[in-house]
Amino acid sequence: MRIGLVLAAAGLGTRLKSAEPKAFVRLGDQSLIDRALAPFLLRDDLAAAAVAVPDPAAAADLLRHLDPRVRFVQGGADRQASVAAGLAALGEVDLILVHDAARPLVEEATIAAVIEAAAKAGAAVPAVPAHDTIKEIGAEGRVMGTVQRAALVLVQTPQGFRADLLRRAHADAVAAGVRATDDAALVERLGEPVVVVPGRRSNLKITTREDVLIAEAILAARAQSPK
Ligand code: C5P
Repeated sequence: MRIGLVLAAAGLGTRLKSAEPKAFVRLGDQSLIDRALAPFLLRDDLAAAAVAVPDPAAAADLLRHLDPRVRFVQGGADRQASVAAGLAALGEVDLILVHDAARPLVEEATIAAVIEAAAKAGAAVPAVPAHDTIKEIGAEGRVMGTVQRAALVLVQTPQGFRADLLRRAHADAVAAGVRATDDAALVERLGEPVVVVPGRRSNLKITTREDVLIAEAILAARAQSPK
């Protein structure tokens, strides 16, 4: 099975308040892009990786040391457009993983579980249970209702799809003018099944400075007790 990876790394990271685009922010001695790519590049069945960034020429220059399977492409106005640009740059593959560079702590076991489930079911996403109570709010922050927590999960990336299904889902969403914040949502609207595999809480999404501190603590703990 040939696997393709699209890494969404074209966000500007305004909530991080850093001078450089978010994916180039460093966590310890490596950028988020380097860290997010590393566990995927360990796989021999990974045929190609397309990384969507704000400036492909600058990225190729900064990350010259990377594997020859990696290509940089120009990202789009939103995440969905950046993923579409990555999809257009991937050659013939059987299964496509879409991952956010904002999740640099992803582990090989999560990637393997997503691949296995996606190959079987067509589409798979990693998720963790929601531990907080989640409320819906209206104008001026007034609480409108409380969502049943038992039925909620927090969905992460990498998300895995049979290549033809993901390409069809993106094309159909563009035709219908639909924008979504993850790729599974585009497959769901086709009525195709998406299965959930266990994610890890440590596969957190770096959005704020606080998340950087948490990620650094997780990395320090991993360095103390390597797998
Ligand atoms: O915008 P959000 O925080 O949900 O971003 C999730 C991921 O999508 C990040 O890794 C970010 O770099 C990426 N992204 C992108 N292109 C955009 C906006 C976000 O690749 N235009």
